[in-house]
Amino acid sequence: MQEQFPSPCVGSGRCCKSSACAFGEYDHEAQQCRYLVVEQRVEGLDIYGCSRYAFIVEQPGAQWNPAFGAGCCQNLFNEHREAIITVVGQGSATRAAIALGRPTKEAVPLPRLPHE
Ligand code: SF4
Repeated sequence: MQEQFPSPCVGSGRCCKSSACAFGEYDHEAQQCRYLVVEQRVEGLDIYGCSRYAFIVEQPGAQWNPAFGAGCCQNLFNEHREAIITVVGQGSATRAAIALGRPTKEAVPLPRLPHE
């Protein structure tokens, strides 16, 4: 079975600016989860990450929420994500994710249809 990454995370930070996951804490003043941090700056673009990543991946249920590596949940109208994909991935989200060391390898393989 071939793994597919339909919409890999490229670190736009949008999801953790919209709300906090089960292990996060939303900071209404900052308008983001308090654990969201800028991990890299590439070509002037902030690449975000979770400062609790190592802790969270060890917790029961973390594979469902926040489901690191399972793909972007906010890829529509996300201009920052589009900029990262354009600049870092030269138009490819997968190429950007790999270049940035995002956890695409943990993505859940999609089931294949019988005729594939
Ligand atoms: S993944 Fe990390 S930064 Fe994002 S909401 Fe959860 S705890 Fe916060």
